[in-house]
Amino acid sequence: MFQKWRRYFKNKFIVAIVAFIFAVALSATISLLKSVETQSLLEQESLTPAFNLISEEIIKPLYVAETIARASNLKNLMNSPVLDEVAIKQTLHELGEEFQVEFFVANESDRTQYNSDGSSLALDINKVEWYFRAMYTEQDIVGVLGNREDIRIYYDVKIYNDKGEFLGFIGLNKKLTTFLNAFDNFKKEFGYDFVFVDHNNNVVLSSDTNLVADGKRILQLNQLPWYAPYISKYNDSEQHHNFLVEVAGEDLLIAQANFEPLNWKMFLINPLKVRQTAATQDFAIQTTYITVAIFTAILIIWLIGKSLQGEFARRHLKDPLTQLPNRAHLAWHYEKFARMNKSIAVIMVDLDHFKAINDTYGHSAGDKALCEVANLLKSLLRDIDIVARWGGEEFVILLPAADITIANHIADRARQVIAKHIFVANSKVIQITASFGVSADTGKSNLIQLINNADAALYEAKNSGRNKVCTGKKTATQNLKKQASS
Ligand code: GH3
Ligand code: MG
Ligand code: MG
Repeated sequence: MFQKWRRYFKNKFIVAIVAFIFAVALSATISLLKSVETQSLLEQESLTPAFNLISEEIIKPLYVAETIARASNLKNLMNSPVLDEVAIKQTLHELGEEFQVEFFVANESDRTQYNSDGSSLALDINKVEWYFRAMYTEQDIVGVLGNREDIRIYYDVKIYNDKGEFLGFIGLNKKLTTFLNAFDNFKKEFGYDFVFVDHNNNVVLSSDTNLVADGKRILQLNQLPWYAPYISKYNDSEQHHNFLVEVAGEDLLIAQANFEPLNWKMFLINPLKVRQTAATQDFAIQTTYITVAIFTAILIIWLIGKSLQGEFARRHLKDPLTQLPNRAHLAWHYEKFARMNKSIAVIMVDLDHFKAINDTYGHSAGDKALCEVANLLKSLLRDIDIVARWGGEEFVILLPAADITIANHIADRARQVIAKHIFVANSKVIQITASFGVSADTGKSNLIQLINNADAALYEAKNSGRNKVCTGKKTATQNLKKQASS
């Protein structure tokens, strides 16, 4: 018994472990797919504000500078033989008002810079170094970022007349008031840095204060720690805009944006650790939830399966020899009848001296006889009656909505039919008889009580000579009533 229980629990335990492993594996797979999504989403979300800020603060002014420079207004004024200083200043002033940035004209013919605030300044080679440096570069647009203390972006666009003569620069100068603050916030929130690199690969501005381009300390792109692994991995950098490099055991995602007109590059250096932690937490939480959900679902399905299996067995299991319902099936029918509140009669049938038949004619002849008896009993009954094989050479008949008189009557008919039936075993005609015990109840006693009563009656039938029908003296309810009154 103990062994049986131990085996039972061991099997259950193995089933539970397998179900649990399955649940974990499945939920981990689902969470992994979800966490890849989460990771990508976090990545996208973290980069979007940086790109928006750059577009607003850096790229938009560049296009404004280009557009103003190409418009004929200022260019014509610079190209006129007699410079109309007032008109230039007036135009610059109007542009400044409209775009909320400072515009200027650096005029070659009189080597003077005119600003939108009305001021002007002589372009002295010893004092205004940028003008001469910018004039001799090959590029038509020059960008300069000021130092961090008063951070400004300068765009200078070279102007030529129709004959291709250099007239000077039209430019703008925009104070990047919100730029560094906003970037500091992004850095706190998302952990990334930005680096602007000019056409000479000099770092002109960075959120990393160690790389500050303050005029004193200008770093080259190739001095940055991630640059060497990045170049060795993605030497064809034109093809890529996002790079994954490892620096001192840390994964960095580097996003590169090129500003074509200036020949500048911007890099966003994005340590993945921050979002990896978020994604890992997400992964762990999701895995736990999904595991619990799947495990519970498996458990429920298993329990339902078990109960359905039991129900199925009870409803459908048959004795393999006679094809009659077995005991469990019989009990299921009894419960069904009892629920319908019907009085139920029970007949217990036991073949007489069946051992002798087996001994004389062999076991298979005995089997054949058992099947024939089963068919005979079935043929005598109503459709709603149930005949089941109780075991060995014993049968139980359930008669719903039948009282003891009807049950007696049916039992006696069955007794006669079996006794008259011609059984053939080994080409010999043999006679088989059966004894019957009958009991009936109003449906308030249970199957076991009814069977016990019928069995007692059957015992009486055997004792009084066999091939007999005997009735149970008392039903279970009567028994209980008697016990209660005594
Ligand atoms: P009694 O009149 O007192 O009932 O005598 P009996 O010989 O029928 O009683 P007993 O219970 O001693 O023997 C029952 C026999 O039924 C024993 C066994 O050989 C036989 N039997 C039980 N199940 C099967 C079966 O599936 N096939 C065959 N062929 N015989 C069976
Ligand atoms: Mg028997
Ligand atoms: Mg018998």
